[in-house]
Amino acid sequence: LFAGNADFLSAAPSLGSLPPMKGVEIAFAGRSNVGKSSLVNALTGRNTLARTSHTPGRTQQLNFFDIGGRLTLVDMPGYGFAAVEKAKVAAWTELIHAYLKGRANLARVFMLIDSRHGLKAIDTDVLDGLDKAAVSYQIVLTKADALKKSEMDARIRGVEAALAKRPAAYPEVLLTSSRDDRGVPELRAAVARLLAE
Ligand code: GDP
Repeated sequence: LFAGNADFLSAAPSLGSLPPMKGVEIAFAGRSNVGKSSLVNALTGRNTLARTSHTPGRTQQLNFFDIGGRLTLVDMPGYGFAAVEKAKVAAWTELIHAYLKGRANLARVFMLIDSRHGLKAIDTDVLDGLDKAAVSYQIVLTKADALKKSEMDARIRGVEAALAKRPAAYPEVLLTSSRDDRGVPELRAAVARLLAE
């Protein structure tokens, strides 16, 4: 599905410029610096797809990628970036909410959480928004290489405990590292299952 098959489709700075819905759509979200660009690149096997440089402006739009004509991958702008002004945060929130509500072919949002930090208040706010919009999501812990196994086990238990208190049923918490490729095949498999549904 992924091998050499990812092409940039379009960037949407506003709702009016979203590409037409086509096939199954998945989105990747997370705080700035969570490792989203690195993971999207590891997933697609491309190094240039999602830029790891943080060009302001570029981070404020939804980036759409076509994967083999059957899947659309959406790279959502990172949130919680302190340097972004309030007005921009409001515009961001509005765009994201409208996108999440209006996208009937959106199968799942992969919510990236830095293993080292766990769920922060702002992540919980985003999960609240997803629950409100009835969008299904899956937690993906990033940078798994940065923790010892015992720390990681505790982190997973903590995240699962937080998820258990939320209204929606949740799929398995995935553990990934784009540095050593851990969990990347499992993430690909989760995406493939969405396509098969
Ligand atoms: P983004 O802002 O979410 O797109 O994050 P980036 O992919 O640009 O990564 C942010 C920082 O985290 C960079 O310094 C990366 O080198 C680092 N990083 C990304 N993925 C990993 C990982 O799997 N393990 C470790 N240890 N660091 C990572």
